[in-house]
Amino acid sequence: MKIAIDGPAAAGKTTLAKRLAQQLGFLFVPTGAMYRAAALAHQRGIPLENTEIMVDKNGRVFLNGEDVTDLLANPELDDLSSRLAVDPQVRARLVELQRKIAEAGSVVMEGRDIGTVVLPDAEVKIFLWATLEERARRRHREQGGDFAEVLEALRRRDERDSTRACAPLRPAPDAVVVDTTDKTPDEVLAVVLKLVEEKRAGFVCRADS
Ligand code: C5P
Repeated sequence: MKIAIDGPAAAGKTTLAKRLAQQLGFLFVPTGAMYRAAALAHQRGIPLENTEIMVDKNGRVFLNGEDVTDLLANPELDDLSSRLAVDPQVRARLVELQRKIAEAGSVVMEGRDIGTVVLPDAEVKIFLWATLEERARRRHREQGGDFAEVLEALRRRDERDSTRACAPLRPAPDAVVVDTTDKTPDEVLAVVLKLVEEKRAGFVCRADS
């Protein structure tokens, strides 16, 4: 089974996808971290054609063999990754890799274009959403700094991610939109697990009929 989780920055995609993958025994694939690793390579002056990005079964991200997972969450890479993500060449390279990973078995893959571009046949598609203010509060709790700046950086990134020509952020027509604004991570997980179970039950019914 393929589960696609898309949505704007700081909507809770990574937390949800990781816990969902753990519960279901699926691979966890954080594609945002792959764009961040590509941005780190760019910062280091590594040309795209020499940039090898891998994700292991626990969602750890490797750049040319080095585990860079713990270097990826910072405001510079928030911004640079979304600027690089408008480049169709960068996207083509990462999308190819993401599809290859998904061929290996059941996955929970999170990002911006998973339900629309990377895995359009995913059996479960979730578009995770929360208000800009709530997402800024969450990001501010994690990263600290000036609240107004955190909010403005998120607003800019949302705008860039949703207006780019290539694979813009938007819900797939068959995605279920889950508003997490007033929900705890446990509540969000419960909602999505229920959707997954319903989908699995649907498969059984179809197979029986
Ligand atoms: O999800 P995260 O905030 O880590 O993603 C960093 C950036 O990578 C996003 O702002 C977006 O521009 C880009 N991205 C993307 N497509 C994905 C995942 C992330 O364009 N599937």
